[in-house]
Amino acid sequence: MTTTAPPRKVYLETLGCQMNFNDSEVMLGLLRTEGFERVEDREQADLLIVNTCQIRGSAEDKAFSYLGAWGKLKAKNPRIKIAMAGCVSQQNKETIFKRAPYVDIVFGTQNIHELPELVRKAFNGENNILAVDRQKPRSTYDYINDVAPVRESDISAWVTIIEGCDYFCTYCVVPYTRGRQISRSPESIIREVLNLAAHGFKEITLLGQTVDSYGKDFTDRQYGLADLLEELSEIAGIERIRFMTSHPLDLNDRIIQAVADLPKVMEYIHIPMQAGDDEILARMKRGYTAQQYYDLVHKIYDKVPNAAVSGDYIVGFPGETEAQFQRTVESVALSGIHNANTAAYSPRKQTPAAIWEARGEEIPEAVKEERLQILIAAIREQSFKMNRPYLDQTVEILVEGKSKRNPSRLTGRTRTNKVVNFDTPFSEDALVGQLVQVKITEALPFSLLGEMVVPDALPAPDRVQTV
Ligand code: SF4
Repeated sequence: MTTTAPPRKVYLETLGCQMNFNDSEVMLGLLRTEGFERVEDREQADLLIVNTCQIRGSAEDKAFSYLGAWGKLKAKNPRIKIAMAGCVSQQNKETIFKRAPYVDIVFGTQNIHELPELVRKAFNGENNILAVDRQKPRSTYDYINDVAPVRESDISAWVTIIEGCDYFCTYCVVPYTRGRQISRSPESIIREVLNLAAHGFKEITLLGQTVDSYGKDFTDRQYGLADLLEELSEIAGIERIRFMTSHPLDLNDRIIQAVADLPKVMEYIHIPMQAGDDEILARMKRGYTAQQYYDLVHKIYDKVPNAAVSGDYIVGFPGETEAQFQRTVESVALSGIHNANTAAYSPRKQTPAAIWEARGEEIPEAVKEERLQILIAAIREQSFKMNRPYLDQTVEILVEGKSKRNPSRLTGRTRTNKVVNFDTPFSEDALVGQLVQVKITEALPFSLLGEMVVPDALPAPDRVQTV
């Protein structure tokens, strides 16, 4: 009689962007092939991993604070193995072993596919295992189709289609941590999405730091994001497709037209503006003026009248004057965006802006914080303005589950990515993963409230107990 070994346990923390969360799902899929299962209690784990982000200093500090706490666990139980993944590993490499000597494995964004081998080495007693290549080959992406990532959701999936970036904005570490732009082959992406559809996923989000640059690095074909959207739209079972994050310079007319024409492509585009002042935009090396950004957003609204555009902003960029900051605040309304993410500038090693800051152009932290709050208030007002026209409208929602704030309601998103919390006579189980119609009864600054429109012809078995 053969006995199978009990599964080993992995505890994984993820910091940063959706691409990091998608990478973590792939890591868990790879570790499953090695007999690991995920646990929520780090004290039970044989292997602890933090998948790090380096966009802001606070995320890097948080990663090292996890490692510090895990080092104490390892002092009590030396069998535990600790790994650091992601952008901080990619940039800091072997110096991490000096700063956190209890770390066993440091692996970067380009070496995720090697994780099973790295873990085997660690459990075989090897120390200071380092894997941080600069750029993985395009074909390396194919492993994703073989490992079946362990996904957070079984309705909506992230699918990375392009990694890295060639833009080198003066504040950003991505080209140093994720490398130069590399697009995954359409064949590999289509195989993954066919597999997702076969497993009942309804929605996919195509990910990339500059997702609309997809295909620019192909040398063997002329193929871009619009072509991919057309092909993915043909896949039965997938109901909704979105993509993020776009760069204003690459959002071409064909992509906008695809959003207008393809029923499965959601009417939502996330395009960072970063600043509303032309001099700051030039110093950021963004490659467009404020007016060009406004023109792009208005072109989208002309071609796709029911679309929502959202953005990103950075305040407190080195040397930013009060007048320049005010132009950023004004840009929120002038652009007509629906919402935006905001951040106070944080210097990142290797970048030109960090040098400018060190040479005396630093904006004091208190000023950055004050500007951040002013900008958030402007975005809140704008978002509220853009949400009000939804009142009394009936919109399509993909149901995600119970509302976190009020579990007696369910929650989902519109095709324009707005969160809708709604009342319904049906249970969570009956509706999760379904597209339903909801009548909006109240517009709030960052979300909508509504009531589900119950179709007369809804089959009886769906009418289960009320929530
Ligand atoms: S385009 Fe985006 S990812 Fe690329 S360097 Fe600029 S901010 Fe970073």
